[in-house]
Amino acid sequence: MSGLQPPRGTHDLIGDTMRRHHHVVETARSVLETYGFEEWSTPIFEDTRVFSRTLGETSDVVSKEMYTFEDRGGESITLRPENTASICRALVTNGLTQSLPQKAFYHGPMFRYERPQKGRYRQFHQIGAELLGAEGPLRDAEVITMAYDILKALGLSEHVVLEINTLGDIASRQAWREALVAYFRQHADALSEESRVRLEVNPLRILDSKSEQDRALLADAPAFADYLNDESRKFWDGLRSYLTAFGVEFVENPRIVRGLDYYSHTAFEFVTTKLGAQGTVLAGGRYEGLVEQMGGPAVPAIGWAGGIERLALLLEDAPAVPAGIAIVPMGDEALLKGAAIARSLREAGLRAEIETRGNMKKRMERVVKSGASHAIVLGDEEIARDVVQLRDLGTRDQQEVSVADLVQALKGA
Ligand code: ATP
Ligand code: MG
Repeated sequence: MSGLQPPRGTHDLIGDTMRRHHHVVETARSVLETYGFEEWSTPIFEDTRVFSRTLGETSDVVSKEMYTFEDRGGESITLRPENTASICRALVTNGLTQSLPQKAFYHGPMFRYERPQKGRYRQFHQIGAELLGAEGPLRDAEVITMAYDILKALGLSEHVVLEINTLGDIASRQAWREALVAYFRQHADALSEESRVRLEVNPLRILDSKSEQDRALLADAPAFADYLNDESRKFWDGLRSYLTAFGVEFVENPRIVRGLDYYSHTAFEFVTTKLGAQGTVLAGGRYEGLVEQMGGPAVPAIGWAGGIERLALLLEDAPAVPAGIAIVPMGDEALLKGAAIARSLREAGLRAEIETRGNMKKRMERVVKSGASHAIVLGDEEIARDVVQLRDLGTRDQQEVSVADLVQALKGA
């Protein structure tokens, strides 16, 4: 049988890759906890309606990217393409809509049938946060600042720019939408074929188009800013003042509409120029109707999701493997003693490995290559006196230490 490959667009996370991934999640976790967010974990697959009802039938995700199948019982199941809809479903299913606000974060694999390229996969991982029951623009600014703090803790704040936009409320969007449709109708000939279809089903999505042809037309399209009603304008002003109060810099980008249907007012993205076309590393916005669509009350919310692979690619260096301690027992009796020593070091929280194969020279070569900080060498002579030779592999100093004092000697080192 020829060697099996992982499915297209999927990856094994091993070694450096896994350490980078882990570093992103753990760094984010420590910042999220300072804001009072707690981890939630929802199933990786859901009833298809959790996504099809909420993300919008015409969104890229629902129309062409979902992994949907019928299970053996005939239920339509979808591997989650994102986690916001599931979190809203979980809020309702767990009876938490009367205990607001809820501050949830999650991380894990998401699935989208996309054309794989650098920074774009079919199984990828997101870390995200949702503030459910978020009453006003202060909360939006706070949740965006939390994302910024995570990027900063990862050492990426210099490499990303925060872009924000307002999508206003429904009334403002309706007025603007009419103006946009009129404009695009006038220039329908110049639109890409895909966008001519969008014009009929969901014209706002043309703003998100990646086609050069469409982008050229967008320059003179009616600006949403001219269609904001008073309430929406107040929200937008509030967002910008609170971001400034939190000390977070931003640029306004009227092009940010986000790919999914459920957003209102705030939309934002953290973008970098370092990942080619896959420049958005973390994105989100305010959504007001999702919880209702899951059968709950109206719960305004703000949230975001970051692509762990894209964040991991941006990290300067992979986090180092912590240096361990190598135990090198020479002879059968030393092996028994070495096993007991390994156990006591591990119980003391030290990383210890036993090196058993080959002659002394071979073993020491492997130990040095492993990056160990110390080697503990013992043979018959050491056992007789209940001591070991402790070698510091950095300074190359060697000293004789009694077995009873070993943990202390290593912890002090
Ligand atoms: P894009 O415009 O790049 O397709 P999106 O709008 O579909 O992104 P979201 O649904 O907002 O992305 O997901 C949030 C983040 O998750 C993105 O900013 C990105 O970092 C990451 N992401 C989304 N899709 C993928 C993917 N297929 N592979 C890797 N990361 C992804
Ligand atoms: Mg996408």
